[in-house]
Amino acid sequence: MLDKVVIANRGEIALRILRACKELGIKTVAIHSQADKDLMHVRLADEAVCIGPAPSTKSYLNVPSIISAAEVTDAVGIHPGYGFLAENADFAEQVERSGFTFIGPKAETIRLMGDKVSAIEAMKEAGVPTVPGSDGALSDDAEEIHKIAKRIGYPVIIKAAAGGGGRGMRVVHSEASLISSIHVTQSEAAAAFGDDTVYMEKFLENPRHVEVQVLADGQGNAVHLFDRDCSMQRRHQKVVEEAPAPHLDPDARAQVLQACVDACIEIGYRGAGTFEFLYENGGFYFIEMNTRVQVEHPVTEMITGVDIVKEQLRIASGLPLSLKQEDIKVQGHSFECRINAEDPKTFLPSPGTIKHFHAPGGNGIRVDSHIYNGYTVPPHYDSLIAKVISYGEDRETALKRMSIALDEMLVDGIRSNIPLQQDIMNDGKFQEGGVNIHYLEKKLGL
Ligand code: ADP
Repeated sequence: MLDKVVIANRGEIALRILRACKELGIKTVAIHSQADKDLMHVRLADEAVCIGPAPSTKSYLNVPSIISAAEVTDAVGIHPGYGFLAENADFAEQVERSGFTFIGPKAETIRLMGDKVSAIEAMKEAGVPTVPGSDGALSDDAEEIHKIAKRIGYPVIIKAAAGGGGRGMRVVHSEASLISSIHVTQSEAAAAFGDDTVYMEKFLENPRHVEVQVLADGQGNAVHLFDRDCSMQRRHQKVVEEAPAPHLDPDARAQVLQACVDACIEIGYRGAGTFEFLYENGGFYFIEMNTRVQVEHPVTEMITGVDIVKEQLRIASGLPLSLKQEDIKVQGHSFECRINAEDPKTFLPSPGTIKHFHAPGGNGIRVDSHIYNGYTVPPHYDSLIAKVISYGEDRETALKRMSIALDEMLVDGIRSNIPLQQDIMNDGKFQEGGVNIHYLEKKLGL
């Protein structure tokens, strides 16, 4: 087992990683910005190193500082969490070149999946269903482009190969605006990602977002941990997640789960990962793979009993996967509500000091959070302050428990989206399950 790990992140996920390390007897090093010295995990870690000023470009994205923190503390591994450098292939490479273990996939896998064109190609080859599209980058041959669009059928979506975070995409409804839309997307992509490669896909009008969690050891073993539904989104940001995804076509589901496992073996995947799909009319369409632990991983942990972060640490230690597919069963249902420090109506961030925090509890409730009474939410980072996770033997019970938990929860001193989450839990269509990715924005009148 790894002896000592640097937790290269902050907030709830840093605390989540710290707890997993403690369970496995791994020593921990917290790194933090000057604004984050009072974070919960910084107090709980064996050692703490301040790596720079508040802005993340100077701290959590500062590769030399992070690597020196590992050097001065004699750590052996670096866990990137999610966000920040988690999907940065150059970072993974530098970590390994400096003699540390990167707790995640090989740099080349991150690179392959970070470019959406090469990711889709690899998935197609491995038998994962993809969105009908241009099968590669678009050339600048206008005639050829028109042909592709005609074959796919309008509406189409133009996407940047290097895109991420919901940026670098443009929907085109008719031939007239096709070429100009491609040009705009190309220049946006060049400015935002330093790469103007774009490709074309069929634009699915009312899909759900369904994803598959996998674990692979890079030694030829891979398993899936079933699926999650994350269709409740605002501006491509997930707001509520659940596992398993409700009302899926059973045959299509079984096929896609197996295809994800096969793909992991095919590409030599190592670590935890997520295959993201759009799901429409009983069909799955791969859109991208996340090569890291995800915010919503707890819902999968609740229904499978597998500790995903501990598995990441075991895999990074070089241990072969101890889990067998036939031993992994779905039991019950789980929801996660992301609690953000933001105004529930305007969505404006609401940093500041938490005067009083009361966490919900009881049977089937888990709270992953770094906040406490008197903690000050800094304005510099993501606004996620807590994840409330509910479990029940069935969907209805898990939903009821979430509703009760949100009523119990108190965050005083700053604004939070708890009222919005309560509204969602009381929404009839959401309660039925299977709403599409536009549902929340429509409900909000956006
Ligand atoms: P990013 O890496 O920026 O998150 P994704 O490829 O995951 O980009 O797409 C983000 C979101 O954009 C999806 O969750 C979906 O809402 C929308 N989207 C992407 N591709 C399509 C498509 N072919 N049809 C319809 N919506 C799409």
